[in-house]
Amino acid sequence: MTALSVTDLTKTYAEGKIALHGVSLSVDAGAFFGLLGPNGAGKSTLIGIISTLVNKSSGTIRVFGHDLDRDPWAVKSAIGLVPQEFNFNSFETVEQIVLNQAGYYGIPRRLARRRAEHYLQSLGLWERRDSVAGTLSGGLKRRLMIARALVHEPRLLILDEPTAGVDIELRRSMWDFLRHINDQGTTIILTTHYLEEAESLCRDIAIIDEGRIVENTDVKSLLQRL
Ligand code: ADP
Ligand code: ADP
Repeated sequence: MTALSVTDLTKTYAEGKIALHGVSLSVDAGAFFGLLGPNGAGKSTLIGIISTLVNKSSGTIRVFGHDLDRDPWAVKSAIGLVPQEFNFNSFETVEQIVLNQAGYYGIPRRLARRRAEHYLQSLGLWERRDSVAGTLSGGLKRRLMIARALVHEPRLLILDEPTAGVDIELRRSMWDFLRHINDQGTTIILTTHYLEEAESLCRDIAIIDEGRIVENTDVKSLLQRL
């Protein structure tokens, strides 16, 4: 089964900047997929379009068979997004932020509370559930965004540079956590500019440069050629 299928995707920003020039890409269900590329390559734009936050100019997106244009809500429901920038309300508590997201997806209150506890526990945030989010360290904020992205149990988790600016110890524990949820069946796509991160986590990768996919292969054969 295909988790994500992108066909001839283009994006031109308002000022005329072309960020994506006809990108096509396919990610299998269950994959741990890395999207690599230098700054400005188009990674965030591509992820933004897939997670329905940025409008595309042309092309087709399907997520588990759902067409983004025909059924954006099905696409939204299938995806959990961990953006690069902290985008929660920093005056709300950790638990509230996760519960709000559950509310957005229409998850009943009791189930939402159970799931919030489960994901906050597994990310080491349960003791901080009543803390106002703005008081958390950068690493804990990043983990809060992961818990928030998982509360509706999406089939596809997308993370934009999840370990940028995260210290080595926390990076390792985040890697372990992501491997664990991938083993449990969640498809994962992450962007990174660390080849080491892609090498350690991903089976398949695409390299994007100046809005074009320049490589789409498995990590092993790429490393053999380098
Ligand atoms: P990456 O995530 O790989 O660093 P981006 O998708 O953020 O790349 O950016 C791709 C290109 O599009 C860059 O040249 C960037 O400057 C441009 N860009 C990104 N967002 C906008 C925007 N909102 N308006 C205009 N140009 C943008
Ligand atoms: P707004 O743009 O007003 O913040 P939205 O209705 O777009 O609100 O989204 C509400 C909440 O859901 C926000 O926290 C947003 O970050 C999150 N969200 C929106 N789309 C997605 C998605 N595809 N996956 C995960 N979270 C999403």
